[in-house]
Amino acid sequence: MQLKILGAAGEVTGSCYLLETSDRRILVECGLKQGSRQDEEANRDDFPFDPESVDAVVLTHGHIDHSGRLPLLVRRGYRGPIYCHRATRDLCQVMLRDAGFLNEKEAVWENRKRERKGLQLIEPLYTMADAERSMESFHGLVYDRRQEILPGVEIRLRDAGHILGSAILEVWLTEQNQKRKIVFSGDLGHRGAPILKDPKRIAGADLVLMESTYGDRQHRSWPDTLEEFSRIFADCAASRGNILIPAFAVGRSQELLYLLNRHYREWGLDRWRVFLDSPMAIQATSVYRKYGHLYDEEARQLWRDPARRRLMPNLHYTRTTQQSMRLNTIRSGAIIVASSGMCTGGRIKHHLKNNVWRKECHVIITGFQAAGTTGRALVDGARFIRLWGEAVRVAATVHTIGGLSAHADRDGLVAWYGGFENHPPVILVHGEPRAATALREIMTQRNSDPVVVARPRQEIDLLNIPDVLRPAQA
Ligand SMILES: [Zn+2]
Ligand SMILES: [Zn+2]
Repeated sequence: MQLKILGAAGEVTGSCYLLETSDRRILVECGLKQGSRQDEEANRDDFPFDPESVDAVVLTHGHIDHSGRLPLLVRRGYRGPIYCHRATRDLCQVMLRDAGFLNEKEAVWENRKRERKGLQLIEPLYTMADAERSMESFHGLVYDRRQEILPGVEIRLRDAGHILGSAILEVWLTEQNQKRKIVFSGDLGHRGAPILKDPKRIAGADLVLMESTYGDRQHRSWPDTLEEFSRIFADCAASRGNILIPAFAVGRSQELLYLLNRHYREWGLDRWRVFLDSPMAIQATSVYRKYGHLYDEEARQLWRDPARRRLMPNLHYTRTTQQSMRLNTIRSGAIIVASSGMCTGGRIKHHLKNNVWRKECHVIITGFQAAGTTGRALVDGARFIRLWGEAVRVAATVHTIGGLSAHADRDGLVAWYGGFENHPPVILVHGEPRAATALREIMTQRNSDPVVVARPRQEIDLLNIPDVLRPAQA
């Protein structure tokens, strides 16, 4: 009985783990590596196992760094089922199709360049048709129901509160009367976040794989974050410009809509027109609206009240390119929520080009901005940003809201682990080395919990778990 860590060791993206018994192979996650060009090229590599030999795939949630290589897995021969929450299946339908579409578009661009240089042409990583084909293997499950997916393999999904449908995965493996329970935290949500419930505590396990994205950071409190929003909208009220809010299409866009809706009067939003300018965010919003029963208590109350269930009267969805381009003519009074979240692509770039050089405009940054992105340049106070190779002056006021995160912070992670009554050994995954190491230190100091940071390609003998934690420290 074995666990192989095939991704997200010492990094945040590319989640992939393989569980093996003498006659079964279960793949947990099949995520895309994201980041530098070199990282992304690695997505084309062979899988470190034969896709045809895998019996089942289980997915914790829809984010591309967990699900994005599934169409490739199917194209390369995987024929078994893909289990995940129903809402995850619906979100994957939106996200994987979009990823396939972007892959095709990118390949066309790249090949145009290559043709001019006389270089060999490339194939897209996978196509929209590949994505659609992989969707046929999806089996949507519900939370909290334990079920056998293969002889000797049982699973249960528990709400992780990270994005809609996100799950903590419990796996029970049985082989020759030996039983082991492995828990995969998936991505753990931020307690108190809008719409979703808090991550479920799990009582026991033989081994835990835990994410550590923010293992070295604390988020600002929710009341402070809402106060910050309120202050920013008060500041903007006097200016005669537009407000741009870059946002990831799935998760962040829906949280923003929810907050704007909930604080509509208090933040004086009736004087604005609000645009959700992202076809993918619009589709993801309809998936979110379909699963009202998964919301937290506050969101469910709003959901039950027909008068408040309707979104803001001044909210407009802009689906087509023409509708989006029409926003270019609006000089003031528009709040535009658009992706990409780090301003590296998508419609937000056009809105920046039209607004960021005007001092009466505002940009509200609500998410993590990686080094090297246009979003990061804005946060860092750049006086110029480059859009399509052209320098554009930044005269708009840039506001940064720190507390809106879809991930648990350091204390949240420690508290979630505290739910285990038996202090099981922990392997930290899904975190940069600095974050994972800081979290390991805190956990070891506080309770001398048995914690190690995952190493790439680490193999763990599940029948001999405590042993594995010692050599990893060396
Ligand atoms: Zn995620
Ligand atoms: Zn993730």
